[in-house]
Amino acid sequence: MTTMPKPTLDRVIYFALQPMLASGVLVFWYFNQDLASGYILSILIINIVLALVEHWRPARPDWVQRWREKSRNIVLVVILIMGAGLVVGFYDSSLRGPLADLRQTLGIDFWPHQWPLLVQVFMVFFLSEFIWYWMHRAEHRWDLVWRVSGHGAHHAFKHLGAINFGANHPLELFFIALPSALVELFFGVGLAAAGAAAFSVTQASIAHSNIRMNTNVVGWLFTTNRYHIHHHSSILEESNTNYGCSAIVWDRVFGTFEDAGTVDTGTGPTEPSLWQKFIMPVREPDDTATAPSNLVA
Ligand SMILES: [Zn+2]
Repeated sequence: MTTMPKPTLDRVIYFALQPMLASGVLVFWYFNQDLASGYILSILIINIVLALVEHWRPARPDWVQRWREKSRNIVLVVILIMGAGLVVGFYDSSLRGPLADLRQTLGIDFWPHQWPLLVQVFMVFFLSEFIWYWMHRAEHRWDLVWRVSGHGAHHAFKHLGAINFGANHPLELFFIALPSALVELFFGVGLAAAGAAAFSVTQASIAHSNIRMNTNVVGWLFTTNRYHIHHHSSILEESNTNYGCSAIVWDRVFGTFEDAGTVDTGTGPTEPSLWQKFIMPVREPDDTATAPSNLVA
């Protein structure tokens, strides 16, 4: 039995992994729209594939998490995904009526339900990412928003991997779930919202992955891990770039895009403990360098 030369495999991963996973999740969703567990299944499959490639061909071998660290992060993210489900349910029950009324009052009931479904998916995706871009930028601009969202906890990890897409402070779930809820409920989107959610979480997982990937073409509109890892830089100025976690196009439009290498990640020279991350909204580690409080006015 012959094995494919490793450089060829590296090239396949480098050029094809992101396009294959991102388009694959859309195809899977398109043909399984009635599957209630489709969203969770997408997260699971995408993250298993990325974790295997990270283990097998890591871009930074020193970032490969030990089993103890990895299993703790997996448990954490599973709990947080369940929490995110509750937040989505809360927004759905509390915002659906008022936003539908607002839509009628303003007379903007024009969502193109008759357009091809995948076109609608990308409309929801880029609109949600537009809102998220400004929310995320606000988290990095004002210390109050940084603290209230617990965003520092997400940035505090020194070793990134795909699983870090979900390693957020519980408070930040209310921020992360809001953009897509606003777009879906304000415009009365319907079916396409689920496809956009699956695509978005796939992109966010890829953006945190420890795998060498191409940025050309795909990186014109979509976030690649090179761009997002730069946002996780431990240097303040580098961290205040590339706010789009799934779509990079808004950074290009609003002048915050930066394509450069990243030496070190995290909020400072050391990684806080899980408890220290949890209490970051009220007490930040002394060596925190990327919080807005470090910005020179
Ligand atoms: Zn950030």
